[in-house]
Amino acid sequence: MLRRSIKTGSETMNIFSTSRLFFLAFIGIALSVFLGWSFYEEETKIIELDIRRDTDEKVAALERELFINLEVLFSIKGLFDSSDNVTAAEFNKLTQSILARHPHIQALSWAPKVLHSERGTYKRLRRKELPDFVITERKEQGKMIRAEDRAVYFPVYYIEPITRNKLAVGFDLASNTERLKTLEISRDLGTAQATASITLVQEASNQKGFITFIPIYQGEPTTIEQRRDHLRGFVTGVFRIGDIFDSVIKHTSAQGITITLVDTSSPSFETLHLNHLPNEPNSGQRSKFSYQKHLTKFSGRQWSIIATPTNGYVTERRSLLPYLISLFGALFVALGAAYTFTVLRRSEYIETMVLDRTNDLNDAKQKLETLSRTDALTGIANRRCFDERLETEWKRAIREKTPLSLMMIDVDHFKQFNDRYGHTVGDNCLIGVASSLQKSLYRPDDLVARYGGEEFVIILPNTKDASTPAENCRRAIENLQISHETSDTAQHITISIGAVTLTPNNQSELIEFTNKADRALYEAKESGRNKVCT
Ligand code: GH3
Ligand code: MG
Ligand code: MG
Repeated sequence: MLRRSIKTGSETMNIFSTSRLFFLAFIGIALSVFLGWSFYEEETKIIELDIRRDTDEKVAALERELFINLEVLFSIKGLFDSSDNVTAAEFNKLTQSILARHPHIQALSWAPKVLHSERGTYKRLRRKELPDFVITERKEQGKMIRAEDRAVYFPVYYIEPITRNKLAVGFDLASNTERLKTLEISRDLGTAQATASITLVQEASNQKGFITFIPIYQGEPTTIEQRRDHLRGFVTGVFRIGDIFDSVIKHTSAQGITITLVDTSSPSFETLHLNHLPNEPNSGQRSKFSYQKHLTKFSGRQWSIIATPTNGYVTERRSLLPYLISLFGALFVALGAAYTFTVLRRSEYIETMVLDRTNDLNDAKQKLETLSRTDALTGIANRRCFDERLETEWKRAIREKTPLSLMMIDVDHFKQFNDRYGHTVGDNCLIGVASSLQKSLYRPDDLVARYGGEEFVIILPNTKDASTPAENCRRAIENLQISHETSDTAQHITISIGAVTLTPNNQSELIEFTNKADRALYEAKESGRNKVCT
């Protein structure tokens, strides 16, 4: 019972420490994963910064290019501001030198304001150099027709390089309402204005372009009315977005970023250009790394760049470190937990073993103690047990003022019995006598002990008359009818008993008590044996 309860305690402890261990291991693994995740996030931030830096670099380059293009137009404006009659030769000379340095400008042109009444005059004048000059508008892509009659025209009058812009010569910029609106804003505000993206008349492919207009006035008008009255025409730059974009982006360092150029001032957020990266399936698709950056507003338009890195760009910048940290951290924790678990199990096993051994030792001690109080031959209490018990009962009797009886018993003529039947039969006789004496007593507190040799003693606590139990004992042995042919007393084994009773007090002596019993036994012997003397 004791052992079982101890074991249960250790099992409870084990369950407690195992669950705590698993909990700690779980926390450890979670921490490793968290650490890996933090490193991953750190890498993500670095990648985002890389993309921003690379994109900002591209945006700055693009802004610079657009600014330069605008500066080109302003230098042509200077020519018209300084002269009311700029000739085709003057225009060509200036623009050709510019175009030599800016090869990706599609066209630079001059579009004068032509009233309907002046249409013929302008045609005639220009035909001196360009025999087939006519003011045109577009019917469909690549097909030009004579412009319908309008109050005002803004025909492309001078244009360079003429070779690749032949189709645009004479093209009335006011023939399209959208473009006309831009022209009017430019005229009224006196500032450069760019169109939304358009398909150029010169363009055979899908590439988009835009036109920037700078108004040229007579004198220096200050009000809208004055600007409308004094308008002479527009210096015009035609730019192919793809060409500008490519020339700029080509010179920036970062590869692997898909760049989309969007016109955010157009209601539909029109895509102006998309740089195609070969072998990249996600080209142009927004990802979590996508980054949008507005360009500085120019000529009334707001452009933005949306940068999306390719998988390759991101993969190139990712390392195995976050995964390794998570993996090895978790592995380390798991191994540590497994080791601790083993150690716990082992110590628990040792603990159980120690408990078992302790219990065994306690059992052995218990057995030894029982043995040390037991007579080896008869199995009843021995002399030592008797001495201890007598002392205890003596003290109790004094304390409780109760009578205590003691019997001293001796087997009659036992020497002769041994001599006649041998020691083994003698031993068996003693065993029989001991057992019979024990059976003759009814109170559980009565104690029968072997005093030594063929002598027995009986303690009878709280008994004021020992003669009756003594007589019972004597008769019980007689009734055993163990044959004893050489006995002078009877034909069978008999015993003599000396019995005493005393209610002891503090003045009483235990030794006196036992001596009295001894003397009573002597008397029983002297008076013929097989007797009880009290
Ligand atoms: P009495 O009637 O006067 O007591 O005569 P007795 O022969 O019994 O007296 P004594 O004390 O001279 O003899 C006791 C004998 O008991 C001696 C011994 O051989 C025998 N004896 C003592 N212990 C044992 C024992 O353990 N086994 C056997 N078989 N005999 C024992
Ligand atoms: Mg004797
Ligand atoms: Mg004897």
